[in-house]
Amino acid sequence: MATLKTFDPPLSALEGRRFAGARRRGKHLLFPTDDGELVLHIHLMSAGRVRFLEPGAKGPKTPAFRLRLEDGGELILTEGGPKKRAKVGVFRPEEIEAELEHLGPEAEDIQAEELGEIARRESRRLHPFLRDQRALAGIGRAWSNEILNRAKLSPYALTRDLDSEEIARLAEAIDAELARGLELRERGANDKKTYRVHNKLAEPCHVCGTPIARVDFEEHTIYYCPTCQTEGRILKDRRLSRLLR
Ligand SMILES: [Zn+2]
Repeated sequence: MATLKTFDPPLSALEGRRFAGARRRGKHLLFPTDDGELVLHIHLMSAGRVRFLEPGAKGPKTPAFRLRLEDGGELILTEGGPKKRAKVGVFRPEEIEAELEHLGPEAEDIQAEELGEIARRESRRLHPFLRDQRALAGIGRAWSNEILNRAKLSPYALTRDLDSEEIARLAEAIDAELARGLELRERGANDKKTYRVHNKLAEPCHVCGTPIARVDFEEHTIYYCPTCQTEGRILKDRRLSRLLR
């Protein structure tokens, strides 16, 4: 199974143990065993989704990963899209702590003051800054698009150029968008219903009606509203425009 990442300890080391609970850190889900010896770790990456199925409940036929519990309940990992990136592994607690040490504070709890401090550390474009798990944990490509649209900020704006009012707007947008996403996902909404900007090329902006634009990169695509976010400017893929010049 491509999804499985570790061999030592093997997944079978979990047999006969009980989980003490579940914890999330960024896009990492942690399930420690109640004897304190092992942690099941699931890294969702961008498209991984984890569900718990009650005993006897119908689930997907070919999940990326399935863990059957003693009572017949199942922990199921599925992954949308063609690229399978989510990872599953069993670790000793100290190993997983070391692995997650580099993560920034949880995005959903971030306050404007702390966000301002993080933003001022280096000058970076906002879209990659929001996606950087070392700066803030828990925001991926899609939500970077949603958050920047709500904050009315350009994906190319530099972190150090933001004034305190813009930082406050960004903090508010992170909070509001992650809460909106969570609520929709809890109601079972799919990507199409959840996102308002991400993957919506040429569809009207939900705020102003301007067609959503995009900039392509190798690994991801930025979506934005030229009216709300860039004062009408169309952003160029910098590598491509360099080649064309
Ligand atoms: Zn707009």
